[in-house]
Amino acid sequence: MASEKGLGVDEDAFNELMEMQRKRARAARSTGAQNAQMDLIADLVAQGVQSEFIGYSKTVCDTEIVAVIDSRALVLKETPFYPEGGGQQGDRGELKGAGFGFEVHDTQKPADGIILHIGRVLYGTPQVGMKVMAGIDRYRRGQMRRNHTATHLLNGALRDVVDSSIKQAGSLVSGERLRFDFNYFEAIPIEQLQRIEQFVNHEIMRNTEVETCEMALADVQQDRRIQAVFDDKYGEHVRVVGIGEFSQELCGGTHVQLTGDIGSFRIVSESSVAAGVRRIEAVTGMEAVDWTAEEHELLIGLSQRLSVKPDELPGRIHLLSNQLREAEKQIKLLQSKAATSQLDSYLDQVVQVQHVPLLAVHVGELPMDALRQVLDQLRQKITSSVLVVASVNEGNACFAASVSPEWVEKGVHAGKLVGQVAAVADGGGGGKPDKAQAGGKDASKIDLALKQASAYLESVLK
Ligand SMILES: [Zn+2]
Repeated sequence: MASEKGLGVDEDAFNELMEMQRKRARAARSTGAQNAQMDLIADLVAQGVQSEFIGYSKTVCDTEIVAVIDSRALVLKETPFYPEGGGQQGDRGELKGAGFGFEVHDTQKPADGIILHIGRVLYGTPQVGMKVMAGIDRYRRGQMRRNHTATHLLNGALRDVVDSSIKQAGSLVSGERLRFDFNYFEAIPIEQLQRIEQFVNHEIMRNTEVETCEMALADVQQDRRIQAVFDDKYGEHVRVVGIGEFSQELCGGTHVQLTGDIGSFRIVSESSVAAGVRRIEAVTGMEAVDWTAEEHELLIGLSQRLSVKPDELPGRIHLLSNQLREAEKQIKLLQSKAATSQLDSYLDQVVQVQHVPLLAVHVGELPMDALRQVLDQLRQKITSSVLVVASVNEGNACFAASVSPEWVEKGVHAGKLVGQVAAVADGGGGGKPDKAQAGGKDASKIDLALKQASAYLESVLK
């Protein structure tokens, strides 16, 4: 429309604005839908509808639908599905009834006693009162049990190995891995991480029973051995999960029966998430075994590449890096030898510009420090002069310039000279009136850049 009036329009910007508008409209609709869901849930709470979680001991049960929030969210009378909470993700699984199937992607607890099974209808139509069989994804739950109990062990090990004042700052238990955030001011050294791994694996080997009990919140708060994040909302009675003498935590999550069920524990990363907060990520069970196998494969690959046994790798790598450093030294030495041997051949390239002897040469491949040596040696050979030398180092242009005292007095400035020259090779630099250096990104322009030297002298001395 705007172009009809001859205004012209940035079409990309226009499309972007339209897309933003569409997104806003979609977001408003979904918030509307969420509000409607929350209204329905509030009604259920008011009516006293409750779903009972029976998933600590069961993974499948016969039950019935007590509320249909919409076709994507159902409430059951009893359920083995753990709703996301205490860092542990919600269960996934399936609901099946006569002529009805539902795939559960997530389980949430939007209000006390209301457990929402979120997913999609596979066939049929959900109805209040419908009998269904509810079954969770048992493999994933198994992984989450292992990861959750391992999180408690990690919490205990951290305080034993690193610092007894460490406090949990958050956690996430999923089917794939566990994540534990805690207050600490610096990175945990690799040796301590190894000791933590050892500690946890040792507790796994001891095959200690994981016990849960209900306790009055007041008693828990007085027992200093019990770890808890008291900012969370708790009822009067709370669940305490204990692993022998090693760990006691306030927790509503699902756990293994014996620590041995965890199988194996490996830390995969330690990092910083915020100022004063560190994060450890770890894996358990088959994931930990796979992690170890991948590391082993890497080691075997490296030892084959370097033709040594795995335990000889550190020595071989040390040797190779020494050899490399020595070779680099040799290359530099040879390069500067080659450059100095050519010095005399440069002398007949000296030209007179406004009565100043000027030498501007490209000496080939040479690092900056060797280039400066070449410059010094040339200066001894042509005492009254303006000199600019250039080289290529690792694909970049290097320039160095010198101006003898009598020409400095006449206003020739090495810093300005080398700056103008380097500008042609997409670079810059500078320095004192008598001596300066510069670099440039475009080494292909060196010869062109050197031509700038006589132009500079013309402009200064005209
Ligand atoms: Zn827990």
